Amino acid sequence: MGSSSSDVSGPRPVGIHWEYAIPLLAVHLAAALVLIPSLFSWSGLVLALVGTHLFGMLGINICYHRLLTHRSLAVPRWLEQTLATIAIFSLEDSPVRWVATHRLHHAHSDAAADPHSPVHGISWAHTGWLVRPAPDRRTLAFFDRYARDVLAVPYYRWFEKRPMRVLWVYLAQIPLFALAGWLFGLACGDTPAQATLLAGSWVVWGVLLRTVLVWHQTWCVNSLSHLFGYRNYETGENSRNNWLVALLAAGEGWHNNHHHDPVSASVQHRWWEIDITYYVILLLARLGLARDIVLPRHIRQANAANTPRTSSAVMTTSQ
Ligand SMILES: [Zn+2]
Ligand SMILES: [Zn+2]
Repeated sequence: MGSSSSDVSGPRPVGIHWEYAIPLLAVHLAAALVLIPSLFSWSGLVLALVGTHLFGMLGINICYHRLLTHRSLAVPRWLEQTLATIAIFSLEDSPVRWVATHRLHHAHSDAAADPHSPVHGISWAHTGWLVRPAPDRRTLAFFDRYARDVLAVPYYRWFEKRPMRVLWVYLAQIPLFALAGWLFGLACGDTPAQATLLAGSWVVWGVLLRTVLVWHQTWCVNSLSHLFGYRNYETGENSRNNWLVALLAAGEGWHNNHHHDPVSASVQHRWWEIDITYYVILLLARLGLARDIVLPRHIRQANAANTPRTSSAVMTTSQ
């Protein structure tokens, strides 16, 4: 199987990292408000379901993961930072911290330095690692080593000066959703009281529940996709292709494919390993909004073999 799990040694940290534990617990508890019947609305349900896919795909999959971490594509700076803000609306850490942590995962997958390997248990890989202290991963030296390119961008560095800024930006979407819901209710003929309930519904379903769903979508990649599924490649760790996670996380569950070729913008290595996130990247390219898209390794190698003097590792499209 090619696992390096024997490298893992030493106890896991004890104690609680309250900076993460409190928001994680608070948002989960607040999302439970969906159980209140008066806060249900069909438009809120649609916001939750569509929002989970959109925020997860645009913010986490495309921006944090494939763009900032692996540089599998490039987009105009205004679009990159808009997508990063969408990622922050999912409260999955700052761009610098997310990128540094994920690069650490790739550098030491399922070994001692992997921040979230399930060799320590599925609950550790899913959520446990987030709420345990990790002082080594909160230092400027760590960020500088693993995410210097991201830290160099003023907008991303702004969040590191005061880490609570991630939380404030996240919370700023709540009045926006509430106002939108209230106006939508009035436009549909609701009374002010009914519109206020709809505003609450949009916040609870469209922000809080959506946040929880995006979290678990991402966490399933860390936990399930290193435990269950098949492997196309011997990658030296335990990554798996998991169809359920791929379905939930718009392609990210083809995780063994990703570990085999992390820099590729696509994780679709067989026709049925559908990678919705890559299709959206291609759509962005068609619209002139994405360029320097890194193609899968076998295509890069074929290009290099066929046209050695002009071969390109990337599909360049004009902006
Ligand atoms: Zn992995
Ligand atoms: Zn990755």
